[in-house]
Amino acid sequence: MPRRITDACTAEGLCMAECPVDCITEGDIYVIDEDACIDCGMCQAVCPSDAIIEV
Ligand code: SF4
Ligand code: SF4
Repeated sequence: MPRRITDACTAEGLCMAECPVDCITEGDIYVIDEDACIDCGMCQAVCPSDAIIEV
């Protein structure tokens, strides 16, 4: 199951720096390309706002 970023995102960018396949895009809230996500969980592990969920 890929990950998804919720409205709880504070857009500080820690997740994007961790993603091994560069499938996270910057924005008002960050966005994961769910087709490209390999479900490694690295982004979820570093998110300080618990804004990343499994879908
Ligand atoms: S680590 Fe969490 S709060 Fe920070 S940009 Fe990523 S999803 Fe948003
Ligand atoms: S689970 Fe892994 S591959 Fe998917 S967005 Fe997070 S860091 Fe990137």
